[in-house]
Amino acid sequence: MPTLVHDDDRPALRYGPNRDEARASKPPSADRQNNDECWMNEAIELARDMQGLVWPNPAVGCVIVNDGRIVGRGRTQYGGRPHAERVALNQAAGHAPGSTLYVTLEPCCHWGKTPPCVDAIIAAGVCRVVASLQDPDPRVNGGGFRKLRQAGIKVEVGPGAEEARETMAGFFHRIATGRPLVEIGERALAPSSIPRGFDAVVQSGERKLWLLTRGRRGETFAEGLEGLNDTFALLDQLGTRGLTRVYVSSSDPFAERLMTGAHA
Ligand SMILES: [Zn+2]
Repeated sequence: MPTLVHDDDRPALRYGPNRDEARASKPPSADRQNNDECWMNEAIELARDMQGLVWPNPAVGCVIVNDGRIVGRGRTQYGGRPHAERVALNQAAGHAPGSTLYVTLEPCCHWGKTPPCVDAIIAAGVCRVVASLQDPDPRVNGGGFRKLRQAGIKVEVGPGAEEARETMAGFFHRIATGRPLVEIGERALAPSSIPRGFDAVVQSGERKLWLLTRGRRGETFAEGLEGLNDTFALLDQLGTRGLTRVYVSSSDPFAERLMTGAHA
């Protein structure tokens, strides 16, 4: 069976309390924790903006905070590069020394097509890194945190983990299976709109399956349901395109085909 996730109403992102109020009513450690969650929410929002546009990398968001204000914002760029941390560090420039960097995924420590982000973070003089998740990629997998700590940077992992995992669920599913995560839901969608957090919408007609992706016009990508006898192959096709999270309306006949089994 393809992986299906039903569409629950997700709670709105929780923002931290007004910082003055927090200071007045809570001990310093709780205050900082609330601020961390608040800043991390900004980073998660940045990541959400790029979902579906950054394959072969996950959509990551990053904000750099110095003296209580954001001095740099970054998100993974189209096609996966540059990474979010690079973009944010470039924006922060001279304001980076002494700052805290919030990022939704562990910074990379390996040479890919770009140099490691941890080197740039260390060189910029960031003094604290808060990350939502450790990167399970075997080339990183804690190595980024280790290198930052070795350089004397304080590292904390966990704030915003649930929301960050949600932004990357499709990416990790695509890595594991080669197919996008398919979600069947009951949202009322405007024509040609894609719900936030999804890469694409699939709609079916008698003679075609219609694929709507971000930044592109909709296109026919397969014959209609009548001739469709292997939904696995179809999901493979979507995965090959780099789609990680696809939305199908529960009222669409394609949803029923997905739920009744991959093979007709
Ligand atoms: Zn990186």
